[in-house]
Amino acid sequence: MDVCEGCGLRVAGGAVGCQAMFDEFRAREMSELAPSYASTRLTVDVYCLQHPDRFCVSAKSLAAHLTGLGWALERGGGEWGLRKLQRWLDSSPKLDKPALPAGHGAVTIADLASAPDTDAYMTALDRWARSTWTAYSELHEIAARWIDAAVA
Ligand SMILES: [Zn+2]
Repeated sequence: MDVCEGCGLRVAGGAVGCQAMFDEFRAREMSELAPSYASTRLTVDVYCLQHPDRFCVSAKSLAAHLTGLGWALERGGGEWGLRKLQRWLDSSPKLDKPALPAGHGAVTIADLASAPDTDAYMTALDRWARSTWTAYSELHEIAARWIDAAVA
């Protein structure tokens, strides 16, 4: 079985198979599972942080996903904050890209994709988000600084 080099998922096709699973899940997430914009947004942030070689190449893209995840888990996740974060990123703040962690968490999109209903999906999303956030613990401090700058 192939392995996705981003998240470590064992799936046929490796990273390509992982992306296909994500795309298929996203359609189901938006049409039947997600109760709000915030949860679909969180899914994108977590998936991108687990696959930084493709989705967090620039400091700005890293900041977008890292602050999105931090906002959701550490600051209550209100949509007003997501809007402030977007406005901050659109203002092109000067950002230095920190070194990224080698591991990206043990929970993968496969754990979400197997959720049969909204309750199971919300539980899996929370586990996946927390696992990935913990993997990025070296970047919590910079994430907090970026969030403060955005919502100030
Ligand atoms: Zn993957």
